[in-house]
Amino acid sequence: MNSDVIFLHAPSIYDFRNRVSFLGPISDVVPSTQVFDMYPLGFVSLSEYLSRNGYSTRIVNLAVKMLNNGDFDAEKFIRNIDPEVFCIDLHWLVHTQGSLEIARICKKYHPNTPVIFGGFTSTYFDKEILSKFEQVDFIIKGDSGELPLLRLLNILNKNKDNKKFEDIENLTWRDKNNRVKSNSITYVPESMDEFLHDPEFIIKSIIRSRDFEGHLPYKNWINIPIMAVLTSKGCLYNCITCGGSAYTYKNFYCRKKPAFMSPEKIIDYLSVIESYIKCPCFFINDIRMGGNKYWRGIFEGIERERIDLPVVFELFYPGERKFLEMMSHSCSRFDLEISPEDSSEIIRKSHGKSYSNISMEKTIKSALELGCDKFDVFFMIGLGKQRREDVYKTLRYMEHILNINPEKICPFISPYAPTIDPGSLAFEKPDKYGFIIKTRMISEQYELFQKPSWKYFFNYETEELRVDDIIDLTYESAIRLYEIKEKYNIIDSKTVSLRREQIEISRYVLNEIDEIITIKDENEMESKLNSLRDKISKVSESLLCSDNDLNWPRSDTKIRNVLLKVFGKLPKLL
Ligand code: SF4
Repeated sequence: MNSDVIFLHAPSIYDFRNRVSFLGPISDVVPSTQVFDMYPLGFVSLSEYLSRNGYSTRIVNLAVKMLNNGDFDAEKFIRNIDPEVFCIDLHWLVHTQGSLEIARICKKYHPNTPVIFGGFTSTYFDKEILSKFEQVDFIIKGDSGELPLLRLLNILNKNKDNKKFEDIENLTWRDKNNRVKSNSITYVPESMDEFLHDPEFIIKSIIRSRDFEGHLPYKNWINIPIMAVLTSKGCLYNCITCGGSAYTYKNFYCRKKPAFMSPEKIIDYLSVIESYIKCPCFFINDIRMGGNKYWRGIFEGIERERIDLPVVFELFYPGERKFLEMMSHSCSRFDLEISPEDSSEIIRKSHGKSYSNISMEKTIKSALELGCDKFDVFFMIGLGKQRREDVYKTLRYMEHILNINPEKICPFISPYAPTIDPGSLAFEKPDKYGFIIKTRMISEQYELFQKPSWKYFFNYETEELRVDDIIDLTYESAIRLYEIKEKYNIIDSKTVSLRREQIEISRYVLNEIDEIITIKDENEMESKLNSLRDKISKVSESLLCSDNDLNWPRSDTKIRNVLLKVFGKLPKLL
């Protein structure tokens, strides 16, 4: 069945199955695979909004289809569909190569079909993208594209002489003389409640398109289902490297304050999730940003509606006892996560977070006392002002944290890789925060992502740590953390040996690639890169942690049961 609008999510590197590319551990602490197969939540909201306004839509996670099926031919798939427009996300910089390549294929087979980009990276680089990449026709800027996209579709459907693109808020476009025009971002909704009116929309969309796989949020969702609840857009804080900070939102996406989804709406959404699947629900953003009344409203709603789902909350700073008590009182199972970044309070502060280790540890202990099932604590490598010895101190501190309760506390350490977000304070004022930005253009970044190893993807280094240092520390820290976990009987010695071996292979591959890319003869270079394929495949799984570390406790809901429930409700859904 053809749809008017097709939303395509590309793998971060389009031709990852054919080209030799050592993608490293850049996605190890998120549920996506190395090609960042998770599509943005905005796809669902945009798709639902357009459907409500008379357009047929379909979401296609090309990345998942390519990962699941070696024979899946993305190019052929695109050739055989025929929508009115293609919408492709380019939200985080890491998707630069994949999204632009997918757009190129769309244009190759459908030269007259508009290709529309959206997302933070598209917004930041809007003019450069339209100047240099002719496969992209329009960019919808800002954090909310629903209304501008609808208006654009309405205008595209009108007769040729009457297309007034200058009237569409948030739009970047080309005029008849091929000049790039950028309208202001004036559509910045103050509440998120006008979106996702129908929480069952995604189920209906799957049924209509008969494409379950294409709607999967990420490949491993089948085995580890997690539902995301986007509680707000925007942030009150300014973590230096974050492209979702208050500074970035204000200066680049024209949002002066966060917009929230109301507690009532969140509870409706949770109720629908619970009626299909009892999987963990991850609350994106710290719900305390909405104020006491807001988070109390969420907890009261969970209690009132007797929602019995495992829930996971992000803490942007340590939690007060009364907040944790109410969480514990309302939620039958809850997990928490916090990102102190470094054990040094000075480095943490220079990264935009001003809280002490004591207050964080107090929060962890209180939460565990109150029944928290799992507490994840995230540290990073590659922060401004952070030195090699600071990373070693952090590793010692991680052991100290783990020692509080080795069964329930899960510390992670990973590189800030491969890119600093454009628009973040670190990107805009690198000197002030100890960063060196190596590439400022998306066309340069596109070229970097064509390189054969993650070492060359970096768009930054710091005054204290070069890219080689960050990579070296990443592997060193991984081994050290495995040794700590072995000491606390969290993993066995066999696993540690296996990881050591994988890390040795990773280092070997990186060194080999450094040599190979100096070879002038392209055929020889290609053949030498190909000879590394087996080794690369041995280290393509998560190295910095195991899938289990990323799992949150959940009930035993099987996807089969979900499908049975969907079929049971078919008459209501259709
Ligand atoms: S990382 Fe910091 S700035 Fe970014 S969303 Fe989280 S709290 Fe806000």
